[in-house]
Amino acid sequence: MNRRTLLPVLILLGLVAGAMFGQWFLFDSATGEGVAAEHWTKVAGDITLIRPLKLMIIPIVLVSVVVGVTSIGDPAKLGIVGGSTVLYYVVTMLIAVTIGTTLVSIVQPGEIDDADRAQLTQEAPEHYTESDVASTIERAQQEKATNLPRAFLQVLRQMIPENLFGEMAGGRTLGVIFFALLLGLALAAGGEATAPAIRVFEALFDAIMRLVQWIIWLTPIGVFFLVAWTVGRIGFANLVGPLSKYIAVVLCGLAIHGLIVLPIVLLLFTRRNPFRFMFQMRRALMTAFGTDSSSATLPVTIECAKTEGGCSKRAANFVLPLGSTLNMDGTALYEAVAVVFLFQLYGIDLEFGQLLVVVITATLAAIGAAGIPSAGLVMMVIVINAVNTSLFGTGKELPLEAIGVIIGVDRIVDMCRTTVNVWGDAVGAKIITRIAPDPPEEYAPPAA
Ligand code: ASP
Repeated sequence: MNRRTLLPVLILLGLVAGAMFGQWFLFDSATGEGVAAEHWTKVAGDITLIRPLKLMIIPIVLVSVVVGVTSIGDPAKLGIVGGSTVLYYVVTMLIAVTIGTTLVSIVQPGEIDDADRAQLTQEAPEHYTESDVASTIERAQQEKATNLPRAFLQVLRQMIPENLFGEMAGGRTLGVIFFALLLGLALAAGGEATAPAIRVFEALFDAIMRLVQWIIWLTPIGVFFLVAWTVGRIGFANLVGPLSKYIAVVLCGLAIHGLIVLPIVLLLFTRRNPFRFMFQMRRALMTAFGTDSSSATLPVTIECAKTEGGCSKRAANFVLPLGSTLNMDGTALYEAVAVVFLFQLYGIDLEFGQLLVVVITATLAAIGAAGIPSAGLVMMVIVINAVNTSLFGTGKELPLEAIGVIIGVDRIVDMCRTTVNVWGDAVGAKIITRIAPDPPEEYAPPAA
């Protein structure tokens, strides 16, 4: 078995073995109690996989965007690539959110029997206050980051930062991408004078990719621990309780988007077999599933897209870093389903106008969500606040603690939506490869 076949097999084994270990050895089925949030399996997963991958994020974003931009060179061409990329992000996210809203309105997972409903809503505030997500939400509320215009201002501020090193130190990629874009443009415009610096960036990029290829071998161990922790915390039994319909709607929506819509889009634009491409991207997709983070997966996504996936350097280096923070089809779909579900559960019927508010704000919330675990759960507050505002005067309002209903099962849902987020980025890179293919290798005359 060669290395390309061996690694995905090992990652898959890690996923399955982790799930079994978590269910049999960590989760206590008799009492229904899961392991603590800071269990050793979580710490082990963090150290063996998440931290090494995170270490690569900022260098890879800076260097890959510079290399992507300098290889496109011409600002007009860059404009076309940038415009098409953003258009792709927005359209696919809107499709995802529409699928989610339609499914949740038809299936109505919030219409459950009264005893279950009473129990879920009664326990929600306690789950909410106990979770670490609550403190993040509270902080965001205090900074008014959960009000839509303020949240957008914050994204804009992050995009145009004052201090590059501050953004790097804080692990915020948007500002780094912005700087890398400008630097790449300046280097491309500099001609002979800046050509050596471009070669330095290209060499650095090769070196970082080499590092990533080494780190990727940690993936099977890392996903084993992380999945063991997730299953050990929640247990499979909880997936068949009163929330099963909600989980099924999210997973069904994600499947429709990831297995039908995105493949059709890919087929239309590239005329290539989408499932072959999905297979080629399998290491990145499994890493996304195991780590729960599109940002942490980014190094693997870039590596996979270029080595096996056949994406051009120009497209992958540009579309993937931007996509890992802005393009989140899975999160957008999930936001819509989760919010409408919670309103249904609390007996508040949403009309067409309010569903439209959900569609728009869920898309914006997904754009604003960071590529880290549970980011979607925090950004959901924006959608809930917006719908509550649109209900003003009706005397109806969804309490924020309602989020406590879904906090317990969120990790598993998050693993699936993160996989779709990364798949959406990969499809984008493949499509943009058509617009921005790499030039054929320059002909080097044989040495005399
Ligand atoms: N975990 C997701 C990601 O990294 C974001 C989310 O919570 O939806 O893509």
